[in-house]
Amino acid sequence: MTLPNYAYFEGKIVPYAEAKVGVMTHALNYGTGAFGGVRAYWNSDEEQLFIFRPIDHFIRVLNSAKLLFAKFDHTPEDLRDITLELIRREGYKEDIYIRPLVYKADETIGVRLHDLRDEITIFAVPFTRYIEKDEDAHVTVSSWRRVDDNAVPARGKITGSYVNSAFIKTDALLAGFDEALVLTNEGHVSEGSAENVFMVRGGVLITPPVTDNILEGITRRTIMTLAHVELGVEVIERQIDRTEVYLCEEFFMTGTAAQVTAITKVDYRAIGDGEMGPITAQLRILYHDVVRGKMPKYRHWNEPVYAKEPASSG
Ligand code: PMP
Repeated sequence: MTLPNYAYFEGKIVPYAEAKVGVMTHALNYGTGAFGGVRAYWNSDEEQLFIFRPIDHFIRVLNSAKLLFAKFDHTPEDLRDITLELIRREGYKEDIYIRPLVYKADETIGVRLHDLRDEITIFAVPFTRYIEKDEDAHVTVSSWRRVDDNAVPARGKITGSYVNSAFIKTDALLAGFDEALVLTNEGHVSEGSAENVFMVRGGVLITPPVTDNILEGITRRTIMTLAHVELGVEVIERQIDRTEVYLCEEFFMTGTAAQVTAITKVDYRAIGDGEMGPITAQLRILYHDVVRGKMPKYRHWNEPVYAKEPASSG
């Protein structure tokens, strides 16, 4: 992966090579960090780079920090402004992925959350597709279970909890699948390793509730809005059983990285007729237009990075 040229680190933007932590850093040893994943999309017609829903992402980052007893003076708007400055310094004119990361920075032994120095770093790298087969992915139901809210809260996007996601993803890929579905301890469908999930059953779009150990996805919320407002599809949040997925008409995963990934097979069973369904296909088109700033109605979700020349009056 291409390394960035700069990073926001210990309060300023520095060359990436200077953004380094020591091996005793608390977060490196104990997983006491939390992160975000934000995308920005290049719109070649407008020659503009648009960050998608940055304020929502930074609200979630600060909430994750709160769960970790980490307090920052930054508002979500401050973090957006730092990100804008960072990207302008990089000068990116392509699709990118932005990673804010808060972490317990003290170099000390002793597991806890309190009485530790908290830092925030941000960097951005060029980024395209996350799941190769995003129109016809084959997923399996993982033998791992999702971390529970009373063990490591999934809504926190806590670095340490991504060991759970890594177990899920590696086992799926080594077994030849593109991704995995993971169940809660009670056996309900929770999400993917780094994606929320949706199924269409009886023409209704259904996704697990936020109380089933999911990360409260920003793409999930975006898709719920687009399905309801643009397609007039009924959207509900409720628990989902594993075998409902085997029988549903359409299934897809959503995430900043995965975008809208169509799942056409689950554990060797075809979903619907085994091809991407019509609701999924329409949502993919809508989503790609919205994130690139091509739908005026949703332009408030698109944060432009570069200043535009005022139109010449001559
Ligand atoms: N679930 C998990 C576990 C994730 O890591 C992600 C990616 N951030 C998502 C869901 C999707 O969230 P979002 O749409 O906000 O990227």
